[in-house]
Amino acid sequence: MKPYEIVKNIFIVGGPEITDSRDGCVYLINLEELVLIDSGAGWSVDKIIHNINSLKLDPQKLKTILLTHCHIDHIGGAPEIRKRYGSRLCIHKLDAPPLENGDPILTAANWYQTTFYPTEVDMKLNSPEEMMEIGGQKIICLHTPGHTPGSISIYLDKEGKRILFGQDLHGPLLEEFGSNLDDWDRSTKKLLTLNADILCEGHFGIYKTKKEVKDYIMSYRRQYGVE
Ligand SMILES: [Zn+2]
Ligand SMILES: [Zn+2]
Repeated sequence: MKPYEIVKNIFIVGGPEITDSRDGCVYLINLEELVLIDSGAGWSVDKIIHNINSLKLDPQKLKTILLTHCHIDHIGGAPEIRKRYGSRLCIHKLDAPPLENGDPILTAANWYQTTFYPTEVDMKLNSPEEMMEIGGQKIICLHTPGHTPGSISIYLDKEGKRILFGQDLHGPLLEEFGSNLDDWDRSTKKLLTLNADILCEGHFGIYKTKKEVKDYIMSYRRQYGVE
């Protein structure tokens, strides 16, 4: 599958069917700078950059990388992309220590039989809801713990649509990740109230109507027995 534009100036540039089977989905927002949401598992940085170029966008403008949580399939490419383009790495403060320590369990690097080297974080998100404004576009980072303590979901309103980036909402919820079902219950409830039109998900792709988004979240709420 090739990278493509989901709505105007929002693209999918990586993921299991686009760059590498080990990658979580990688999304790109084209504002006056480029904002990357997650970065793949680390083996596909060249492919992600190739895809950005193929969309006629300039990777030199990759100034911000928002990391939805601390797992390798989402963070693996971030250090190399920062090295090349001077991007700032942003993650919630509760998910920063696994990156800073290169923790093989909490980053899930051991699952992927790789190493994530200790990596400094440039910006730690630290409130239930944090708003960034880039090129006049408001981007809201919601703290949605559950899968990991510092998981975030990101949303923005554009072209009359609310677009939600909710990676790994499906879990898994595992003790070794510090997952928490009560947190996850509250977080997914909060996400339902957003009434998003489009869900850009971490491994299964993109859900394109309010109903599909709601059904997707509800199916996991039933699966985890909170509905
Ligand atoms: Zn994942
Ligand atoms: Zn994960």
